[in-house]
Amino acid sequence: MIIIMKPGASKESVRHITELIESKGLKAHLSEGTQVTIVGVVGDKTLLANSNLELAEGVDKIVPVTESYKLVNRKFHPEPTTVQAGPASVGPGNLTVMAGPCAVESREQLMETAFAVKKAGANFLRGGAYKPRTSPYAFQGLEEEGLKYMKEAREATGLAVVCEVTSLRALETAAKYVDMIQIGARNMQNFELLKECGRSGIPVLLKRGLAATIDEWLNAAEYIISEGNHNIVLCERGIRTYETSTRNTLDLSAVPVIRRKSHLPIIVDPSHATGEYSYVPPLAKAAVAAGADGLMIEVHPCPEKALSDGPQSLTFENFDRLMTELEPYAELAGRSFREDHSQP
Ligand code: PEP
Ligand code: MN
Repeated sequence: MIIIMKPGASKESVRHITELIESKGLKAHLSEGTQVTIVGVVGDKTLLANSNLELAEGVDKIVPVTESYKLVNRKFHPEPTTVQAGPASVGPGNLTVMAGPCAVESREQLMETAFAVKKAGANFLRGGAYKPRTSPYAFQGLEEEGLKYMKEAREATGLAVVCEVTSLRALETAAKYVDMIQIGARNMQNFELLKECGRSGIPVLLKRGLAATIDEWLNAAEYIISEGNHNIVLCERGIRTYETSTRNTLDLSAVPVIRRKSHLPIIVDPSHATGEYSYVPPLAKAAVAAGADGLMIEVHPCPEKALSDGPQSLTFENFDRLMTELEPYAELAGRSFREDHSQP
């Protein structure tokens, strides 16, 4: 449940409520907006049965929260969240672009791509060093060597870097090199990994599972936030449906639905959603129009030679053209774009 304080309620009355909740063994989370303060309560609320909270000074009303996810719930935190990750941020007012190869394949491939996406106006370099491939015989990634190249590219370009981890061991290693950890679609419900991401405090990009409902996805985010890490960005990357013309089906309605249900930022990945490079630009534009906070786009110096996801990767030229074409969409959506976000 949430306790909505009266506008202008004193700090003393908020403290009194918080102490009362904690004295009963529950957790209180404060959200201080410009107008009102909301106290979110997590735990067994039957413990508050005879507390008459609604009569306490400064309390306006008490609203039950029926959803199982609490701290990511917009009811707990009405203001949209901005996530800062190294030199870049994701949140309202910005259109943040994460671009780069599916997999880090070599130092040269990564550096070349990093400079190209930076020049085109991207904010993050993406690149997988641990690849969750469908076949165990397919390229699995360069692991720590790939992370070292990501860090080198970060230093050379000033871009923030985001990299997927597929295990607890990979998380521990990646924490030394990257600004943001990516939890891929296949690990969205790897609860041990989610909890450890929560404890790490590193910003997390949480992709939607291949067949996950939006509520399951938000519950996955709740695993991270409940360990104390509020720096979570959601990423819609398409879901499995009966349609086979595209690799997945991009569920763009997730953008306004998430906006209503959660305060967390949401970006869209049209590359994994479609599996086909020529479908990426129209869906990237649609995502911006739908209100996404950013995009994740796969870019490769030579897509036909890519070790993974070549068919959906944009060449440098195609990426540069897309970034130019996105400008009016970003402007209409009221988002600053292709700017240097290096100052927090
Ligand atoms: C990726 O970003 O390279 C990736 C594997 O994505 P997803 O988890 O969405 O399939
Ligand atoms: Mn990929």
